[in-house]
Amino acid sequence: MTIERRDVLRSAAMLGLGLAAPAIGQPTRKLGYAIVGLGYYGLGVIIPQFAKCAHSRLAAVVSGDRAKAERVAREHGLSPQAIYSYANFDSIRDNPDVDIVYVCLPNGLHAEYTIRAARAGKHVLCEKPMAVSVAEGQAMIAACKTANRKLMIGYRCHFEPFNREAMRLARSGAAGKIRFVRSEHGFVQGDPGAWRLKRALSGGGSLMDMGVYSLQAAHYMTGEEPVAVTARESTDRRDPRFAEVEDMIDWTLEFPSGAIAGCLSMYSANQNRILLMGDKGRIELEPATRYDGNRMWTGRDGREREVTPPDAQANQFAGQLDHLADCAVSGREPIVSGEEGLRDMAIIKAIYRSAREGRTVRLERGA
Ligand code: NDP
Repeated sequence: MTIERRDVLRSAAMLGLGLAAPAIGQPTRKLGYAIVGLGYYGLGVIIPQFAKCAHSRLAAVVSGDRAKAERVAREHGLSPQAIYSYANFDSIRDNPDVDIVYVCLPNGLHAEYTIRAARAGKHVLCEKPMAVSVAEGQAMIAACKTANRKLMIGYRCHFEPFNREAMRLARSGAAGKIRFVRSEHGFVQGDPGAWRLKRALSGGGSLMDMGVYSLQAAHYMTGEEPVAVTARESTDRRDPRFAEVEDMIDWTLEFPSGAIAGCLSMYSANQNRILLMGDKGRIELEPATRYDGNRMWTGRDGREREVTPPDAQANQFAGQLDHLADCAVSGREPIVSGEEGLRDMAIIKAIYRSAREGRTVRLERGA
């Protein structure tokens, strides 16, 4: 039996049952976000999304560039009191307009600003990767627990309609018993001065960036926790871009069911694809994890049927922002918690170790 149209329809019906809607609380007001780091993502991608949010709004900006912050504040109707620098960031505790701090800084600064935000009494949405080490991730979780604040990781694909539909199809058994997931993400990193290529700020190369998408997809497509990893790195160290971090790394994850995921990340070619193979069919996404324009197919041995989720127009960013606002009000745990980010940090550590030592590394469950 191949993946049938009825599976797609059944999945669509599940959407109608509310499985697609991450919103779980009903805030009576829009919760205020402070965006920390007015760069490509925080300023260019996230801030415009508040216009599409039901439960979230922009309440403050945190930046090392006062002139930029003043311009952004003016454009979004924020008062000068809603502008913070990194030096006076802690005084955000006195701003009742700010409920949630969204950390959009280079990876190496995620832990510091998450912990400072929690100590200031704010919930935290932290971009991926959660941190640059397992110890940092643990400290972030501890700080948020101590402050009784929510911590969510910016794994936006959990709110992206095509990825959500693919997860539901996989869980519904539409592809049969899952045997293999292929997940590949990369782009050509052209700027040798980019912080992504400086270990102190990035924590590593493509694995810490696009590799997180490959790793996440392996997890949410199989629905399993890996038990072992085998990795191999390929980096041209004569290339000045890769003096400090890796270019390409591929790794194999073994799951308890016997399923295997073959994952790849790289900074030297463009790639964005997820392919799940089961004994009854396959689910393929390409591009898989972009901001928009993702596409999905099902079939027995190829791209036989294109699948468009009923909520294909849903905005993943607004879904993500509103989900944490809802969790902050309802007290529920975000669907992408700090613990999930920490689990990934532990796997990333094992991937690097496996590549370095040239052997399979077994993963502690719940590490
Ligand atoms: P950018 O370099 O474009 O922006 C980072 C911003 O952080 C800077 O503009 C600056 O803001 C601030 N900053 C503070 N200290 C430093 C420093 N030492 N070096 C550089 N910047 C500093 O990065 P991105 O926006 O692309 O990435 C930020 C985070 O978002 C990363 O963790 C990345 O992984 C994540 N990301 C997630 C994406 C997703 O789809 N989920 C997509 C892209 C990025 P200011 O001038 O205001 O101080």
